Amino acid sequence: MKMSCVHEKIALSLDRWQEVHWQIHQIEKHYHSPEGVRYSFNALIRAAKEIPQLLSMELQNRPDYQGQIKPRLDELRADPLFSLLSNKRDYVVHRGMLDVHSSGRIGTTEGHGFKIGFAFSVGPWESSEEAYARFTEVCRSDKEKRRMMGPDCDSWPMLQRKWVLPDLPDEDFLSIAITAWRTCGTKLSEILVHLGGEALDTELRCAHDPERVRSKEYSQAEFFRLVDGINLDEVN
Ligand SMILES: [Zn+2]
Repeated sequence: MKMSCVHEKIALSLDRWQEVHWQIHQIEKHYHSPEGVRYSFNALIRAAKEIPQLLSMELQNRPDYQGQIKPRLDELRADPLFSLLSNKRDYVVHRGMLDVHSSGRIGTTEGHGFKIGFAFSVGPWESSEEAYARFTEVCRSDKEKRRMMGPDCDSWPMLQRKWVLPDLPDEDFLSIAITAWRTCGTKLSEILVHLGGEALDTELRCAHDPERVRSKEYSQAEFFRLVDGINLDEVN
């Protein structure tokens, strides 16, 4: 079939793009673990950066490479986010660690976002689990804070965290990852169409709701038991 021939011409590049997609889900899955999220984000940057290299390798012998394909690869490399990530990747390689910022909010929920929420620092070395344990300690030792920030009989605790690069303080890892995937996909799609194929779908309908990924909810009963020494089963 003609379609599959076109895809075969850039099979390595398309496979790398699939890998970027897979790493988006890894970031979702490991969002609350400092190592997990950092490793997945690193791997995503690495895979994305290889796409223009692979495209050039796969297509450089074509007569239309200089005129039609290379300009598109140059556009991709010049994309502000893409070039920032490429530099980050170099940074990662040379320094061995990605420079990241982590922040958080804590409070309560009744299942639809925060009912009440307060700024709560969550360190870049800290898992959400550890940050939450710190919060329960704060509530245990400070009754006023517990009353203000802790759950009542209708709500339960919720922590939300956010990972950002210092250069892009308004966008978290998830939105950067999805934008990088889409930027590469749009270029791959243009090239596929140029080669006679069909455009790629760059909608990513399988991405999870970022608000939900960033949030972690905790047991109401456990909070009451740990912090207030109350067993809710006995009360009810
Ligand atoms: Zn997916």
